[in-house]
Amino acid sequence: METDVIIIGAGGGGYPGAFRLARSGYRVVIIDPKGELGGNCLFSGCIPSKTIRELAQIVWRNNRILKANLKPDFSLIQDHKDRVQEIRYMQHREELKEFRDNIELIRGKAKLIDNKTVEAETENGMIEVKGRYLVISTGSEPVKPKFPGSEFSITSDDLYGYRTSLRRLPDDITIVGGGYIALETATILKALGYNVRLLVRSDKVLKGFESEIVNTLLPLLGLEIMYNSPILEIKKIGEQEFEVFYSDGKGNKKSLETGLVMLATGRKPVLPEGAGGILALDSKGHISVDDSMKTNLPNVFATGDVNGKAPYFHAAVRMSIAAAYNIMSNGTPVDYVDFKSIPVTIFTIPPASYVGIMPSEAKRMGISFIEASYELKNDPMAQMYDEMGGVLKLYFERGSLRLIGAWIVGVHAGFAINELGQAVAHGLTARDLAEFADQHPTTNELIAYTARKVL
Ligand code: ADP
Repeated sequence: METDVIIIGAGGGGYPGAFRLARSGYRVVIIDPKGELGGNCLFSGCIPSKTIRELAQIVWRNNRILKANLKPDFSLIQDHKDRVQEIRYMQHREELKEFRDNIELIRGKAKLIDNKTVEAETENGMIEVKGRYLVISTGSEPVKPKFPGSEFSITSDDLYGYRTSLRRLPDDITIVGGGYIALETATILKALGYNVRLLVRSDKVLKGFESEIVNTLLPLLGLEIMYNSPILEIKKIGEQEFEVFYSDGKGNKKSLETGLVMLATGRKPVLPEGAGGILALDSKGHISVDDSMKTNLPNVFATGDVNGKAPYFHAAVRMSIAAAYNIMSNGTPVDYVDFKSIPVTIFTIPPASYVGIMPSEAKRMGISFIEASYELKNDPMAQMYDEMGGVLKLYFERGSLRLIGAWIVGVHAGFAINELGQAVAHGLTARDLAEFADQHPTTNELIAYTARKVL
């Protein structure tokens, strides 16, 4: 089979670009073992986890504000999650129908033969596909460290996966890890009434995030975090009963009993077979790309989690579109991804978001800036939900007053960050933000209030 573009992996790094290419008349073959669009984000990532999060937040707000005592049947939550996933799969099938003349989706696992030839291993045997361009968007997967009894643990895939068999949860849950998936899941399950603790290997959580954001967020989460406690072993002591052994950091082996252990110990890139042999990789095994999404081979692009640049669905979508434009310009780059303007949100309850250059980086880069902040306790939304904790901070380049970065911890952070992302992306100044009449009553109003503080 011959085509113009082969896309390996049908997630956010794959299908948006396929649609764009198809609209311009390119023939595209997408290969994915799921046989559906949406990738891991829809199958076991952002969509299912945030569906559960939204329900958890409703339960938690009800219980707190209306003095209810709701502890929902977890299987009902999982049913709703599966329905949301099903709706989105149906939506994607409709989209594929629209593009049926130009896009073919092959259910199979792809293997690279060379930079223009791919073999798809399907139920009905091997299909060889030849294309002028190749986009690799094979995503990432959870890292599952091996230790005695590690087989008794689950990962986020088991909790959030489409039609997962995990429909009931025990009252006591231990999450291993201190990254954003660990913290999000911990606050979601806590909001649903489970007793959750985090076992963290080092003395820190959310490594890589600006410390001021972490220090503002953590006290609001009210999580039980056991630092310097690397997991050593899990022993099964009963039906949904485990003894978890960990080191207390002073060389002592300690243990606790819990009903479920979830490992959230990082994610690693997934490369199709044959890719490592012909493509340049970074030290962590991601496919190296430049800002146009090009790899070391001029006709091969790599988008999404697999390149390690920004492991978020919305970032993958942006990369996928950039790769499409750069293919349409015959490989001469015309579109570059501005990673600094891609927002990042930790969807804990409450959430935290940031975009742009954070102060520690600005200092390293020698950028002089002024900052302005606003406490969320003065925000009507925060008051309505009685979630008054949190802060918004804006950083403006000294002189130009261009917004170079911003973060917000608290109610609706994940919504407000979009406006801030637009401002960072398009070089808006404090004046632009201050003059805008943000919709009342929304948390976004704080952006204009805060910008006015520097004028
Ligand atoms: P991203 O958001 O980075 O695009 P996702 O992790 O959401 O990525 O999706 C990646 C997709 O790639 C998954 O659906 C996975 O099944 C698919 N995939 C992984 N390895 C292969 C392979 N060798 N051949 C085809 N598809 C693959």
